[in-house]
Amino acid sequence: MSKVIVITGASSGIGEATAKILAKDGGKIVLGARREDKLKKLAEEVKNLGGEAVYSVTDVTKVEEVEALAKLAIDTFGKIDVWLNNAGIMPSSPMIKKDIKSWDAIIDTNIKGVMYGIGAALPYMYKQKSGHIINISSVAGHIIHAGNAAYAASKWAVRAISDTLRQEVAQDNVNIRVTNVSPGAINTELVSSLPDSESKKRLQQFYDAYAIPVERIALTIKQAIDMDEDTAWNEIIIRPTKQV
Ligand code: NDP
Repeated sequence: MSKVIVITGASSGIGEATAKILAKDGGKIVLGARREDKLKKLAEEVKNLGGEAVYSVTDVTKVEEVEALAKLAIDTFGKIDVWLNNAGIMPSSPMIKKDIKSWDAIIDTNIKGVMYGIGAALPYMYKQKSGHIINISSVAGHIIHAGNAAYAASKWAVRAISDTLRQEVAQDNVNIRVTNVSPGAINTELVSSLPDSESKKRLQQFYDAYAIPVERIALTIKQAIDMDEDTAWNEIIIRPTKQV
């Protein structure tokens, strides 16, 4: 496999694990996130695992940085086979706390960031007449829980965006696959970054009891990529067996 895969939010968690699993297959990985030190280290690890890697400091809320990430992929490897819209944040709290800064950040990162990624990758994929967009939604994009309004709304939006894109590309003269992945509780930095201490405590207990290793999601993403090109795995929910 020598596919060119662009990953946003590659500096930790699902993005990092996916880069590593694809590297073992000789993947050409283009890494984007805000923490440069982590990207630099990961690029080295990807190379040691048998892949190729370049990186660019990318804040997905900044359209020009997302466009630059796509250009880096084209300039370095000449194509984009897969674009993984993975970057996301979850600073959740009940609405009475009126954490408007977090509401804005969630919407900018989890919704607009995904659309900027699609906008950056799609013109190249139309030129190639092929490609694969993978968006990371969440079980929270299927099930409502109190205290999670902005995040859940963002992940429902990701599913809406994914299926709209699927319908659009299916009608054009291109072979572009769209996969929406909705993970349940996965052991990453996501929960530890919650600013609201009550929400963090509640979720941390849940994650400590149920969360599954991040490598399971990375493997799922790899399996969706490895699927025959005329077949798209459109919707995947993957969660701990015991998660209700
Ligand atoms: P992590 O916190 O470990 O990873 C999130 C990644 O997103 C980091 O690499 C972070 O890097 C990056 N990121 C955050 N904001 C931005 C931004 N503005 N621009 C670019 N990159 C950004 O958590 P996960 O790996 O768990 O999260 C990955 C995705 O999985 C998210 O979309 C999340 O919502 C989703 N998800 C996670 C679940 C879980 O249980 N862990 C469950 C369901 C979905 P940096 O700070 O360097 O920019």
